[in-house]
Amino acid sequence: MNEHVASTPDMAPEMGSGMDAKTPMMAQYLDIKAEHRDYLLFYRMGDFYELFFDDAIKGAEALDIALTKRGSHQGRDIPLCGVPVHAAEQYLEKLIRKGFRVAVCEQVEDAAEAKKRGAKSVVRREVVRLVTPGTLTEDSLLEARSANMLVALGRAGSDFALASADMSAGEFVVSTVQPGDIAGELARLSPREVLAPDGLLADEHLAPVLKALGPALSPLPSIKFDSGNGERALKALYRVAALDAFGSFSRAELSAAGALIGYLELTQKGKLPALKPLARVGERAFMAIDAATRRNLELCETLTGTRGGSLLATIDRTVTGAGARELASRLSSPLTDTPTITSRHDAIDYFASESDLRRDVREALRRAPDIARALARLSVGRGGPRDLANLRDGLNAARDLRKSLDGIGDPLKPAAGEIAKARHDLVEGVAAASALSDRLEFLLVPEPPFLARDGGYIKSGSHAALDDVRGLRDESRRIIASLESRYREESGVGSLRIKHNGVLGYFIETTPAHADKLQTDALRQTFRHRQTIGSAVRFSTDELATLASRISQAADQALAIERELFDAMVALALETHLALAQLADALAALDVSTALAELATQQRLVRPKVDESLTFKIARGRHPVVEAALQSESAKSFVPNDCDLSPGSAGRLWLVTGPNMAGKSTFLRQNALIAILAQMGAFVPAESAHVGIVDRLFSRVGAADDLARGRSTFMVEMVETAAILNQATEKSLVILDEIGRGTATFDGLAIAWATAEHLHEKNKSRALFATHYHEMTALAERLHAMTCVTMRVSEWNDTIVFLHEVAAGAADRSYGIHVAKLAGLPAAVIGRAEEVLRALEEGREGHKPLARIDDLPLFQATPTAKPQSKTSGVEDALRDVSPDALSPREALELLYALKAKL
Ligand code: ADP
Ligand code: MG
Repeated sequence: MNEHVASTPDMAPEMGSGMDAKTPMMAQYLDIKAEHRDYLLFYRMGDFYELFFDDAIKGAEALDIALTKRGSHQGRDIPLCGVPVHAAEQYLEKLIRKGFRVAVCEQVEDAAEAKKRGAKSVVRREVVRLVTPGTLTEDSLLEARSANMLVALGRAGSDFALASADMSAGEFVVSTVQPGDIAGELARLSPREVLAPDGLLADEHLAPVLKALGPALSPLPSIKFDSGNGERALKALYRVAALDAFGSFSRAELSAAGALIGYLELTQKGKLPALKPLARVGERAFMAIDAATRRNLELCETLTGTRGGSLLATIDRTVTGAGARELASRLSSPLTDTPTITSRHDAIDYFASESDLRRDVREALRRAPDIARALARLSVGRGGPRDLANLRDGLNAARDLRKSLDGIGDPLKPAAGEIAKARHDLVEGVAAASALSDRLEFLLVPEPPFLARDGGYIKSGSHAALDDVRGLRDESRRIIASLESRYREESGVGSLRIKHNGVLGYFIETTPAHADKLQTDALRQTFRHRQTIGSAVRFSTDELATLASRISQAADQALAIERELFDAMVALALETHLALAQLADALAALDVSTALAELATQQRLVRPKVDESLTFKIARGRHPVVEAALQSESAKSFVPNDCDLSPGSAGRLWLVTGPNMAGKSTFLRQNALIAILAQMGAFVPAESAHVGIVDRLFSRVGAADDLARGRSTFMVEMVETAAILNQATEKSLVILDEIGRGTATFDGLAIAWATAEHLHEKNKSRALFATHYHEMTALAERLHAMTCVTMRVSEWNDTIVFLHEVAAGAADRSYGIHVAKLAGLPAAVIGRAEEVLRALEEGREGHKPLARIDDLPLFQATPTAKPQSKTSGVEDALRDVSPDALSPREALELLYALKAKL
């Protein structure tokens, strides 16, 4: 099945009779492929991109399209598959998603030009772009609400740095990173693609981190990370002689940033996207949250990898793609500096109380297109008139927003924090982009097409020369229309029509029955025969031909003028790119502030107090995601709980006990989420909250809860626990959920015990420790800053009801068998379990437990009867005894008898 090749007749001469060894085209293909070994080569042939050899085999399988063969090479068939150019984007998307990188090779001259070099010469082709996951700009290849990060890991000696850029939005940031923090930083940035020196793949510590990236990793030769080259690349990018204006960068930072720019140049074939000035971020700017904690807390996606059900999905009320991306970035990177956090809280506070203003702002934002992404496409030459219209409409929305915000000059209630900054940026950005705005407004039609190719996007009346040629074109069309009636009169053929098609251009058409009337002596001079087909005979006239060529010339001229105007608008937009980026950022920030204010009112969130203390005091806190889930099921309502780990409280280390399903994990996580929300600058689900800045957040879950990821090994749990004990500080918040569960009871308990002691004595972090080992509550007597709380349950008629309430104290027992009963385990099993439990508990008090269990009748021997009885033989015997009626001797005998029943 290879009709797609057959349908590209213009290629046939090139292909010759086949692609036998070294036809000129084959030679060209092999040359280009040799330079792009790591890429699938999309080789343009007419209306298709063709893939050959191994590329074809891989491509056909990945895309689920037919694999065919054509010609032969070195005696073997050449595998082949192809995708139509007009649908290429959707195939690219599939390939990128599956981890491939694609080199797009185009024809850069037409066949006629090639022929001039000789009958056998091949059309010139060049790779015009490398498509990789981190360098996408097309809307169809991107998700509107997610950033598309490209990250480079640079190195100078033993120093490391990470540079990150979202080329589709212009972000460009670099920061120094400790080797041990690289994995955590990568988790924070959540990149689509990571560039790293290939030498690092041999580094024993970094290799596992890099390999875990899977297909997102793009190893590059170490020379690409040279810091001297990096400095030169940055200077060239910003067209400056010295980088001082951007800050001072370390050699590792120059290495990372330079490698990233080099890669953009390589993949975009020299067309660099419009990046914002490189920003340097301090090492401790963000709350450190490692990958395991992010996963475990389900911040941006759930354990099963979906966005729905994550914290992000639950809190997202943004109305623009840029706002959604900004929200996700803030959630991934909670801050550690109080002033910025406070300014974000100020903005939410303001918008939460000004509901009219909030509504107006959100209305204006809804109309704002994605300025940043339109600009990115224009900057790499992949933009169209629709992208210019996006800039125009974005600028209009910005102007509307500035007006809305101008109205809020109430001196009693000054708009503080982020709003003030956004307003300032809007005023400045709108002013700086006014020339662009005027030009776009004046020239562009309201709804221009996506592609510049066919013209039709410049308003009439906006450009005199364009109006003239369009007038000429339209006038000629009108004359042609009037020709039809004149020709009908002259020929007497009432059904004569003037038509147009792509092959003949304009022509006159009659039915075969009337054709003779146009070939009379009088008319033969005028009507020249052109074509006879089954149902029609077609003619032309000099007059028509002249008009037609005038139309096509005018159309060509109009296209050229439009193209020129388009290019000038793009150039102006790129000159204005900093102002546009500033506006785009202000719009995104306003979207986030109003969205979080909206959320705060809908979900009853409060402004947390954030400072530099070691306080962690939450009154009636709630788990936002569990609460939302309960709401949507309109089932029970969420039970709020207090948590106070502050100095001077009952304890900074809380040991949480309680049966399964009682709400321990929920309580732990809700406090971690509240810390994150507070420091990302959002309001929090509580009645009040006071959070002293958390420098690092750790959350670990006992192996059994991590089954979803299929890596529930005890080893992983221990590696992760080790990381906490080595890194957590007094300012950290640690959540340990059933650590030690993945191994046998006694060593599990021992590990949990020692971990709690270390946390208390050495790390001194604020911590919540959930455990099912009640034995650990004994620790509270020795560890002064540890306190025990338990999830309350009420027992009722032999069953238990979970109250989901945290109360002081320890659970007196684990209720595991109760839960098993609730779950419907057979009565026989429950009964047997109760017996074994009793034996074990007695064993703990000094007897030999296993011997006692051996003495119990085997499970098979006691089908269902006995387990139903709740009382033992001893109890039964005692029930009938009246102690007052016994003589001392009888009492002694009874004691012997009772003992014998055991
Ligand atoms: P545990 O860790 O103690 O086994 P979980 O925290 O997993 O218990 O909670 C089990 C279920 O109980 C949750 O899925 C949720 O539906 C419910 N739950 C937990 N905490 C609360 C609460 N505070 N209010 C209402 N329901 C809760
Ligand atoms: Mg749990």
